[in-house]
Amino acid sequence: MSTDLKTAAQRVKDSGQADLWVKPSLEQIDRHEGRLNCLLSSDRNDVTRQLESLERRLKDGGESLPLAGVPIVLKDNICVEGQPTTCGSKMLGNFVPPYNATVWNKLQEAGAILVGKANMDEFAMGSSTENSAFGITRNPWDTERVPGGSSGGSAAVVSAGYVPAALGSDTGGSIRQPAAFCGVTGLKPTYGRVSRFGLVAFASSLDQIGPLALNAEDTALVLNCIAGYDPLDATSSEEPVPADLADLAKAPSLESSKIAVPKIVNELLSADLLEHFHKTIEEFRELGFQVEEVDLPYMEESLSAYYVIAPAEASSNLARYDGVRYGQRPGGLDYENISELTTATRSQMFGKEVKRRIMLGTYTLSAGYYDAYYNRAQKVRTALRNAYVSTLRDYQAILTPTTPGPAFKVGEKVDDPVAMYLSDIFTVSANLTGLPALSMPSGAHQGLPLGVQLLGKPFSEVSLLTLCRDYQKATQHHLSRPAVYS
Ligand code: GLN
Repeated sequence: MSTDLKTAAQRVKDSGQADLWVKPSLEQIDRHEGRLNCLLSSDRNDVTRQLESLERRLKDGGESLPLAGVPIVLKDNICVEGQPTTCGSKMLGNFVPPYNATVWNKLQEAGAILVGKANMDEFAMGSSTENSAFGITRNPWDTERVPGGSSGGSAAVVSAGYVPAALGSDTGGSIRQPAAFCGVTGLKPTYGRVSRFGLVAFASSLDQIGPLALNAEDTALVLNCIAGYDPLDATSSEEPVPADLADLAKAPSLESSKIAVPKIVNELLSADLLEHFHKTIEEFRELGFQVEEVDLPYMEESLSAYYVIAPAEASSNLARYDGVRYGQRPGGLDYENISELTTATRSQMFGKEVKRRIMLGTYTLSAGYYDAYYNRAQKVRTALRNAYVSTLRDYQAILTPTTPGPAFKVGEKVDDPVAMYLSDIFTVSANLTGLPALSMPSGAHQGLPLGVQLLGKPFSEVSLLTLCRDYQKATQHHLSRPAVYS
């Protein structure tokens, strides 16, 4: 679909042809899926059913349908009634939810068509999609490389031209990091902006659902459809959704506002990537923004705090998968007692990284270590939030690279968890502070896309997307596509 989502939906409405974009989308999936493995399911009978229902709604003509006939992919930790929702895990290999996540109800209302569920790191734990129990996803720019993670499938389907937009989830960077690796735009909204009802929990105080698309306007449009208070999610916010999200083109430009760049970035990048990042800073300056370096403490500590808090919450959330209440048991075995059953289920159905996180989390929450690890991490979290909020009093946004480097090779970091965790250094702060942040393409390094991150005040998604829109108007980076796209 070589047009923006608004125009695309309008064409569907004008023509009354519900499958105008869905048909080429399915053809593109069939052409490349064998090589890329972005999807865990794509139920064609269900697509036909959805199209029939959309046709009826188009004939009625009474609804606005801002995403009429737009093909969409959802990360496989977002529940869809009657469709498998595996979370990339054998544990949920046979799980078919009896209800929809709120985000999917809202997208359906807007007229979107679900064409597939995206591959992901098991239970959203990872930065490369290599932790999926159902095979790795390949980066559409270079199939020897990872698409990032954990929403690697969601970023790859947009980058490869399967669909113009997808939803991912972001607990420590899982929308923004794969968006950067695949050369697309991705946004983690403010905590509470989007309902988490029907999202399989990883770390509940950090998880947020958000959109990935090809540019700022499309990202805004999808966010507009999924945002808002939901009585089914007690942590969702009553903050009104601003009208500008529905039509970002109309939002007034923020040029000449101030953008902060943390000094520590200079120490965390290799020389050539730092040079590239400084070019992005210059591009912002040429657009009229005042970009200034600032001291922003606790960025390095944020990574340690994240890798204490996220596993702690995960160990608690994943306790429900015992083969009795939730989770698939290994078949064909007789168990002497409940403990044997639980042990067999958890040891055989969870993958390595998930088990590592559960053990880490259980350890840091245990009586003797709680104060030393979990409580300390929470103190870092508070200090970090204060530092960010105070910087954002004087600046419209904080600009950093999204990742320390471009997409790495398949297998390169899989046996070195700490090296893998380090790729999240720039992204975890947004989750620990609850602040919104987006990643957008900023050029290429040796043929691979790079991304930069803009992080802003609570509920400032419109400002962030406007900055992104203005940057994209003046530069061409977001228009680069991998060969498979066309
Ligand atoms: N890479 C991070 C992790 O492994 C972030 C994951 C996420 O945002 N879901 O925990």
